Amino acid sequence: MKIGVIGGGQLGRMLALAGTPLGMSFAFLDPAPDACAQALGEHIRADYDDKDHLRRLADEVDLVTFEFESVPAETVAFLSQFVPVYPNAESLRIARDRWFEKSMFRDLGIPTPDFADIQSQADLDAAVAGIGLPAVLKTRTLGYDGKGQKLLRKPADVSNAFAELGSVPCILEGFVPFTGEVSLIAVRGRDGETCFYPLVHNSHESGILRLSVASSNHPLQALAEDYVGRVLKQLDYVGVLAFEFFEVDGGLKANEIAPRVHNSGHWTIEGAECSQFENHLRAVAGLPLGSTAKLGESAMLNFIGEVPPVAKVIAIEDCHLHHYGKAFKAGRKVGHATLRCPDRATLDRQITAVETLIPRV
Ligand code: AMP
Repeated sequence: MKIGVIGGGQLGRMLALAGTPLGMSFAFLDPAPDACAQALGEHIRADYDDKDHLRRLADEVDLVTFEFESVPAETVAFLSQFVPVYPNAESLRIARDRWFEKSMFRDLGIPTPDFADIQSQADLDAAVAGIGLPAVLKTRTLGYDGKGQKLLRKPADVSNAFAELGSVPCILEGFVPFTGEVSLIAVRGRDGETCFYPLVHNSHESGILRLSVASSNHPLQALAEDYVGRVLKQLDYVGVLAFEFFEVDGGLKANEIAPRVHNSGHWTIEGAECSQFENHLRAVAGLPLGSTAKLGESAMLNFIGEVPPVAKVIAIEDCHLHHYGKAFKAGRKVGHATLRCPDRATLDRQITAVETLIPRV
C-alpha cells in the first residue's frame, strides 16, 4: 500500500519509519527542497495548492493523510475527488481554525476558556471588557509553537494588539491559571474503533514543547477520554488526534486539537506497545488498531536548535535517539530522545541526564 502524505517534515519521516515494516511505501508532497522525510520515500516538491502535482500524488497512492493541519481547504477538497483522504475535510476545517475549534468544544459541552471572535481592534476592546485581563490573543489560523499569539496582561497591552498580530482574524481567550498541561493522544479506525494512550504531562518553554512525561493511572484519564471521544465521534474522525488540555481546579479545560500525530506522542515509539505513528497508519489504512498500553515509565525530550553529540545521548541507559536529519537552526525541532525506564525514579534520573546535554538558552 502506498501512502501519500501532505508535508514532508519529521512527522512524515516518523510515519514512514513506522509504516515501512508493515509493507507500506510513501510519497511526500512538500515545497521544501530539504524536506527531511524525503530520505524515507518519494518527494514530490510542490506547493500545497499545486493542482498538477496534487493530481500526480493522488494517482500514485492508495490514500492521502497529513502531517500538519494548515493545509488549504481547496487542497483537501481537490484530493478527495480522486483518492480517500483521512482525516476528513471537516476535521481539518475545524482543527485549523481556533474559532471553529473552540465553538465545537462549547457545543459538545467540553469546558474551554472564555473566548470571543476578534475581527478588529474594536472587537478586541469589547471582548477585553467582557472577558477581562489577563487574556491571550491568538490568530485563528496558522499559529504553532507559541507563534501568532500575545499575552495581554494590562490595558496598555491591548491598545495595539490586533495590529501587532497582523490585523488578521483572531480569538481572545481568558487566561487560564493552569496547574499543568496535559495531552491525550487518541486513535480512531475507519470502523469507529477507538483507543487512547495514557495522558501525557507537557512542559513548554517559550511556547515550544520541551518535555512530555507519560502518566500512570492519571485521575483525569477517564474524563479526558470522555471529552476526546465526543470530538472523535462528532467529526467521524479517522486517524490519530491529539487533544491538549489545561489542568485547572482539579478538572480539564480544552486548549486545542491537532488532527495528526503529535510531538507529545513521540514517546510512544519506544514507550508504548504500538506507536502513535503505526496506529495512525493502521487507522487510515483500515487495519486493526494496535495496543496503546505503556511499556514501563516513559518520557520524551525535544532537541531544539541542535542535537547533542550522538554518542553522548545514546550512552545514557534507557535512552533512544531520534535525529530528524534537519539542518540545525535556533528554535527548530531537530530531534528528540525517548526514555523508557523500569520505574519512575529511574526515569526522573535519566530525564536529568538528557537535560544536562541540552544547552540552556
Ligand atoms: P497554544 O498554541 O494555544 O497551544 O498555546 C501555547 C501555549 O501558551 C500553551 O501550551 C500554554 O502554555 C499557553 N497558553 C495558551 N493559551 C492559554 C490560555 N488561555 N491561558 C493560559 N495559557 C495559555
